[in-house]
Amino acid sequence: MRAAVFSTKPYDRRFLDAAAEGTGHELRYFETRLTRDTAGLARGSAAVCIFVNDEADAPALQILKEGGVQVVACRCAGFNQVDVQEAQKLGITVVRVPAYSPHAVAEYAVGLILALNRHIPRACNRVREGNFSLDGLMGFDLFGKTAGVVGTGKIGGLVAKILHGFGCEVLGHDSYINPDCTAIGVRYVGLDELLAASDVVSLHCPLTPATNQLINEATLAKMKPGAMLINTSRGAVIDTGAVVGALKSGRLGYLGLDVYEEEEQYFFEDFSSRVIEDDVLARLLTFPNVLITGHQAFFTREAIGNIAQTVVDSLSNFEKGLPLPNKVDPAAIVL
Ligand code: NAD
Repeated sequence: MRAAVFSTKPYDRRFLDAAAEGTGHELRYFETRLTRDTAGLARGSAAVCIFVNDEADAPALQILKEGGVQVVACRCAGFNQVDVQEAQKLGITVVRVPAYSPHAVAEYAVGLILALNRHIPRACNRVREGNFSLDGLMGFDLFGKTAGVVGTGKIGGLVAKILHGFGCEVLGHDSYINPDCTAIGVRYVGLDELLAASDVVSLHCPLTPATNQLINEATLAKMKPGAMLINTSRGAVIDTGAVVGALKSGRLGYLGLDVYEEEEQYFFEDFSSRVIEDDVLARLLTFPNVLITGHQAFFTREAIGNIAQTVVDSLSNFEKGLPLPNKVDPAAIVL
């Protein structure tokens, strides 16, 4: 099967080539993102393979369809970048990689909590300059604190388990009760109660119409003053402008982001010699109590290997008319 692979980095190529060896699939790599302007590049391919910041919106999907594309394979868990309803209308199948290493993301989310709380990046920079002072580096024990996990699925469930291991009281908010969470004593509560009680809030729900800007001016006002907010889910789950306001007022004590609402303009590219025109992102980067990384929570050897293998298996199954366990169900995007 011929597949056009968008937003390709050298590591994608390495792992996908290895997974595709012997399958007969012909993978055509493009560094550019998929958008309605680049969708024509896939002409003649039966499949496209996309990542988190590609834009498989209705116009892009229509161009893909005209070019012969039958299947869109997301090499990620989230599928908010695909207009799934339009794909269904056009008869394009959408597959994703629902679980490649929830551990990678869960461990990273906890890494952000520790790095922020204990000011580790700041301390490293200081020590490199020969400054061994501890002023401004005081953190707090996680032991005995309350952590709120919004979305207790595969990743959130593991975050709950790790934080439970630190001795936190863990609150969960989800319409789906994860038995692995209740087994360790996670208490499920409404969002308002979770926000009011938690010293640390970590977001692990998908981006859906219901979770779009779930954290906004009103919900931020319900958080415990000085609490920490961690987002490794999708940028638009947070109203970033409102978060900047909460940081300025001191209402929000710490912010750790691996995702950002407007990340597709910047993430995965080198802007170190260029001007960041996004004033919200630029402002966020000035706060001492904010840590931002460029969507790297998933980025482990294990995860990238699993992603490549799952994508290639989906393409093979599609080609052979076999069942597609990772097919996206359009009904799943409405909670
Ligand atoms: P999952 O489907 O296993 O779990 C998501 C959970 O969120 C489900 O239990 C669902 O019921 C719950 N949920 C949905 N809407 C909710 C709402 N309004 N309030 C509370 N809970 C809600 O998914 P997962 O594998 O745990 O991944 C979660 C998200 O993490 C993905 O959708 C993706 O956006 C993000 N993600 C980010 C990275 C990264 O590198 N930063 C990597 C992988 C996944």
